[in-house]
Amino acid sequence: MMTGKNDKNEKVVPFQPQGPFSLEAKKRWNKIPKWAQSRILEHVWCVECRVGVSIILETAEMQDDDLLLRGKCKTCGHEVCRLVEPEAD
Ligand SMILES: [Zn+2]
Repeated sequence: MMTGKNDKNEKVVPFQPQGPFSLEAKKRWNKIPKWAQSRILEHVWCVECRVGVSIILETAEMQDDDLLLRGKCKTCGHEVCRLVEPEAD
């Protein structure tokens, strides 16, 4: 049951498949195997941490032929993004 409260809690959710994807981005994302999806989401370069970090995904959209994932570093909250290039085949 819903409590009726509408608080916007700051949750740490690395992957929210329904919300942030544009239609085109979602189509593209769904072509990526699950194991590769999690590898992408868990290895985003953070300039603050200077390591590959998990992304808290906020938006995903197509930029030309690339899928652009934007969000925040799960470790420090700094903005990060990840470009997923089309498969070369
Ligand atoms: Zn960071």
